[in-house]
Amino acid sequence: MDLGIRGKNAIVCGASKGLGKGCAAALARDGVNLVINSRGREALEATAEEIRRESGVKVTAIACDVTTPQGRAQLLAACPNPDILVNNAGGPPPGDFREWNRETWLKAIDANMLTPIELIKATLDGMIARKFGRVVNITSGAVKAPIAELGLSNGARSGLTGFVAGIARQAAQHNVTINNLLPGRFMTDRLRGNMETNAKKAGRTFDEQARVLLAAIPAGRFGTPEEFGEACAFLCGAQAGYFIGQNLLQDGGQYPGTF
Ligand code: NAP
Repeated sequence: MDLGIRGKNAIVCGASKGLGKGCAAALARDGVNLVINSRGREALEATAEEIRRESGVKVTAIACDVTTPQGRAQLLAACPNPDILVNNAGGPPPGDFREWNRETWLKAIDANMLTPIELIKATLDGMIARKFGRVVNITSGAVKAPIAELGLSNGARSGLTGFVAGIARQAAQHNVTINNLLPGRFMTDRLRGNMETNAKKAGRTFDEQARVLLAAIPAGRFGTPEEFGEACAFLCGAQAGYFIGQNLLQDGGQYPGTF
């Protein structure tokens, strides 16, 4: 399927690895030029080179922390008029809310709520003026089905979700869409790290921990960053202009509700 976005420009945050990289690579396969970002330079440059080699699109790598104003300014300087924005950053750590103070909360809210909102603020009016724009926020299945120890994520991402629900409906008439993509369990460094920690806590091996998690996923497997990226690219496609303010859960059927 030709997504009709060849030659468009995208900023993809948190894209040296994992889900962000999946999104960047999928957009590149559809001919989108990229500005990709992560804090670590080495993995980012390697990913940029891999995507250039495979797709032939222009890829600019900006090593910076997207949760800081300076980081965001660097990204916007490299791509002042993006047609596509994929918001992503690392998720907050798990823990017990009794141990979190104001600083802990502000860090999570900064990374997983205010950073995407700031980038939307900086890019939305340009998209509206050009009559095309696609924003995809990588959030989490935890927005729909909270995970107790990820309270920081449940809270901060729900704030972003509420904000997007309103603003998406204001932008829709200009062929500018804002949607959230909610990953269930995808095999990335983050999931691997969480699984190792939880396996240790429960006195299980990594494989035993994997079997416990897989028992709750009807698809019987973890998701791949590649299939997550393809879903993101679809939402960014010219044909996806009627998806407005949606929360698309991609979780192998783990969420048990009808809606
Ligand atoms: P990952 O494999 O750890 O990759 C995260 C990527 O984001 C890396 O490229 C990382 O590079 C970059 N990054 C992290 N913090 C950043 C920052 N402050 N500024 C710029 N780049 C940053 O994680 P993932 O599994 O792809 O997860 C992506 C998002 O989806 C996270 O918010 C996660 O909580 C959420 N999520 C994931 C799953 C899952 O199953 N994988 C499920 C639900 C939600 P550097 O570290 O070098 O910056």
